[in-house]
Amino acid sequence: MAAQRLNHCGAQPPLGGDSGDLVCRTPITGGAMFFLPCAGAEQVDAAVGTAHATFASWRTTPAPQRGRLVKRLGELLTEYKEDLADLVTLEAGKIRSEALGEVQEMIDICDFAVGLSRQLYGRTMPSERPGHRLAECWHPLGVVGVLSAFNFPAAVWAWNTAVALVCGDTVVWKPSELTPLTAVACDALLARAAKDTGAPPGVHQLVLGDRDTGQQLVDDDRVALVSATGSVRMGRAVAPRVAARFGRCLLELGGNNGAVVAPSADLDLAVRGIVFSAAGTAGQRCTTLRRLIVHEDIADRLVDRIVHAYHRLPVGDPFAAATLVGPLITARAHEAMAQALERAQADGGKLLTGGETLLRDEAPQARYVAPAVVRMPAQTAIVRAETFAPIVYVLTYRTFEEAITLHNEVPQGLSSSVFTSDQREAERFLAADGSDCGIANVNLGTSGAEIGGAFGGEKATGGGRESGSDAWRAYMRRATHTVNYSAELPLAQGVDFL
Ligand code: NAD
Repeated sequence: MAAQRLNHCGAQPPLGGDSGDLVCRTPITGGAMFFLPCAGAEQVDAAVGTAHATFASWRTTPAPQRGRLVKRLGELLTEYKEDLADLVTLEAGKIRSEALGEVQEMIDICDFAVGLSRQLYGRTMPSERPGHRLAECWHPLGVVGVLSAFNFPAAVWAWNTAVALVCGDTVVWKPSELTPLTAVACDALLARAAKDTGAPPGVHQLVLGDRDTGQQLVDDDRVALVSATGSVRMGRAVAPRVAARFGRCLLELGGNNGAVVAPSADLDLAVRGIVFSAAGTAGQRCTTLRRLIVHEDIADRLVDRIVHAYHRLPVGDPFAAATLVGPLITARAHEAMAQALERAQADGGKLLTGGETLLRDEAPQARYVAPAVVRMPAQTAIVRAETFAPIVYVLTYRTFEEAITLHNEVPQGLSSSVFTSDQREAERFLAADGSDCGIANVNLGTSGAEIGGAFGGEKATGGGRESGSDAWRAYMRRATHTVNYSAELPLAQGVDFL
């Protein structure tokens, strides 16, 4: 543990900020670094106005040309990968390899979006009428308001922005109030990419602030799509407001991800997949493994191995090369973890390892915790809720049907996995009556998705899809075109009129 580094930020906010400013903190020490001014209502209004005005010309810029801007952004992200990863570690507390991985994901989505800029395909359909052509065409949608969470302070923005820009949309971004510095850096890189490629600077606007700032975007009629990543609570507040003005919403909300471990599973592989998914990123990924559903014949053996692996997990300064688990984001996250562990034990759960607060002396304001494993007698209310911290609950099953039922009996539906060597079980898990999640994996953990696939989940996770596959369609509007190139006017369905 680099004690010196843990002390490099002061305990008190630095002088000079106004009362409405954001205090930039680092979870590494829990200390404040400096202030950044929040956008006031007028600035948010102006930012949306600029994005809206810029859309008028950006939408008619050929898509492959729009792709040049995103290509340049990808080059700049490659050039500044280390620096941006430093900011991600500083603000979100991610360990170095995960922070670098987050920036790599941004580079990957830029590559993907550049290719997409020549592949925004529509279809032609056979018309039922002679001399007619029926086709659909995808057009830019408008201003996309991006609300993002603290735990992917840069990648979620890139998923949305790279794709939205090639689709011909403009973007107004309200990042998490916990990670404004990373956002300022991303915005600066995109501004530079725009300058280098001659794209209008108004294609991207950054507004810093808290949920009130976000709400202004949510309520603005000029924002055609609100792409909101965060808690289910946030989604519940945002979705009805956007719906009330007939805007579009793309929701990427909380998960409560489960893995089923069958008797035939390769346990060496399963243990590695489980420990990374459950304890990695200090349990602060939307895809973090929170529920382990293990066959009763192997439960004791598997749990012993997981507990053993947990005892060897280095927790501490995320900048240190050996660390695998960094800090929790805030004291409030720490309280939520402690309360969840209490409730689980009150429900009859047995805490097998973890839950202790670590490094109190070195970093009294930070919140480092030992990742926890709790064996539960049943899937109680606390297990069904997402606690954004490293707690994995272990449940057991007897039949595979029972495992699937347990797995699906939670409000969220983001990511899932099965560890098995039995092909029937694997296919059953992926089938229509198997996992009800947007992401279903076989023989790997629940976290660590690639950008090529569409990312998102069902039920309380919100139903949105981002990133790869055809997720781009959410950022465009579809127009169906019917062209009559004959001299007749036959009506559809054989209707006779005049
Ligand atoms: P959060 O819900 O507290 O905040 C997310 C963003 O929404 C922030 O920018 C916040 O300012 C804004 N916001 C909150 N309430 C709002 C409101 N009423 N109106 C407008 N804006 C509002 O989430 P968080 O603590 O930053 O992130 C953790 C949560 O995000 C977890 O639940 C996690 O599972 C989820 N998450 C989901 C995904 C996904 O892709 N499904 C990805 C990352 C994180």
